[in-house]
Order: sequence, then C-alpha cells, then structure tokens
Amino acid sequence: MPFSSQLNAVAICRTPYKQKFGIPRQPGLVNAVGYIEFEPAFNHLDAVRGIEQYSHLWLLFCFHENVAQGWKTTVRPPRLGGNEKLGVFATRSTFRPNGIGQSVVKLHGVVQRKGKVCLVISGMDLLDGTPIVDIKPYIPFSDAILDAKGGIAQDAPELMPLIYTPLATEQINHYCQQEQYQDLAELITGVLAQDPRPAYKKAKDDAKLYQVALYDLDIFWHVTAQGIEVLELKATTV
Ligand code: SAH
Repeated sequence: MPFSSQLNAVAICRTPYKQKFGIPRQPGLVNAVGYIEFEPAFNHLDAVRGIEQYSHLWLLFCFHENVAQGWKTTVRPPRLGGNEKLGVFATRSTFRPNGIGQSVVKLHGVVQRKGKVCLVISGMDLLDGTPIVDIKPYIPFSDAILDAKGGIAQDAPELMPLIYTPLATEQINHYCQQEQYQDLAELITGVLAQDPRPAYKKAKDDAKLYQVALYDLDIFWHVTAQGIEVLELKATTV
C-alpha cells in the first residue's frame, strides 16, 4: 500500500568509507569522522538551532547502493556464519523493503562548509554519499534500554589482532602528517580489527589478498596466524 509521496534526502553523509566492504557493521565501533551536508532545500541554520545540546543523533538514511537489488523475506546474517536464515525484520540487513537504515552517531558540532550547513559527526557506519532522510536527537531516557535483549547481536563483534609491515608503518606515519589523514591510523586499526571478511571466509584458511578503500587510499591486507597483517597503502586509482 503506497503511503506517501517519495522521500527526499534532506542531507548527504560524507564519510571516509568509499566502498561498502570494510564499513563497520554498526555505528560506534570505529571513531571515523564524517559530515552531514544539508541539501539546498534544507540548508537553513535555523533548522538545526539547538541541536548542539544533544551529544548524539539518530540518522535515518537510505541504503542507496542496495535499493536496486530489492529485498527477500529471509536473509543470512553474517553473525550466523552466512548459513542460517532469519526474517529480514529480525535483522539489520541492508536489503530492506524501503531500504531504510538507522544509526546513532556522536555529534561534534555545526559548521558551514562550502556555503552548506554541516553537522560534524563520528562513529557512523555509512558509505560516503549516503542520502539522509531524517535526523533526530538521541534521547537517552527513552532510546537507551539497558536491559534489552539483543538476540544474535547482543555484543559488539570480537576484534582481531593487527600487525603492520614496516612499509605500511612508514606509509601510515607519512600520511598522518597531513591534515586530511589525521585519523588514518585509528581508522585503519578500527576498520580492520572488525575483520571485514564475509562470514564464510572466516571458517577456513584464507590466503586471499584484501583491500579496503578509506579516503582516497587503498589499504591492502591479508590474514595470518597472528591476525590481520596490514601490507601497504596505495593511492586509489579510480
Ligand atoms: N546501523 C544501520 C546500518 C547497519 S548495516 C542499521 O542498523 O540500519 C551497516 C552496513 O551498511 C555497512 O557495513 C555497509 O556495508 C552498509 N551500508 C552503509 N551505507 C550504505 C549505503 N548507502 N548503501 C548500501 N549499504 C550501505
């Protein structure tokens, strides 16, 4: 049953995550910094008056890179190893009937960038360019339910140990000297410690070379007996 006119993006989320692979599976797991840039029709400082009194915001957004693929009534959550199926509404699957995502993020402040009102945020799990359909203050007395049952997602994912080759260490130190890559070391550590691989890959010896795209850099890594080894960084070639 169609219920309303189409939804319009009120803002676009700008993040270091340039591809879906590697983005943390929920917010708050990696302290990446991002920006919410308001679209022209919503670009009014008045519309965010008083927002700085809140430490966190709810972002409602569209999984825009997935909507074209549609949805199924059951999905295979990564937490269940990709084998078991659950109903789509019993998961946070990114393939949903209306493609709506929901993330709570930390608010750092309101700035003006290139003539646009922007919210400075961190901890988001959103792909760069994600359309934001609504922004709401996080209200602890009603949003934080400390004794809630989290089902298959009761706890944050376990973290993998990380090791770095001398080349990767030298490259990260070099990039971190530059303003735009200040949080690169923390970002690489946070993203890779989550072990972004698909669930079925974690079950066996995995000699594959992986790459995640952060900012305009490709980070190459693989899995060893000691953990995830960061091999080297290269400027993204797209
Ligand atoms: N916290 C949200 C999202 C959880 S799933 C919710 O519960 O609804 C998080 C995953 O969404 C990320 O790992 C990334 O792979 C995917 N994702 C993020 N932004 C996306 C986008 N714009 N389109 C498609 N998938 C996206």
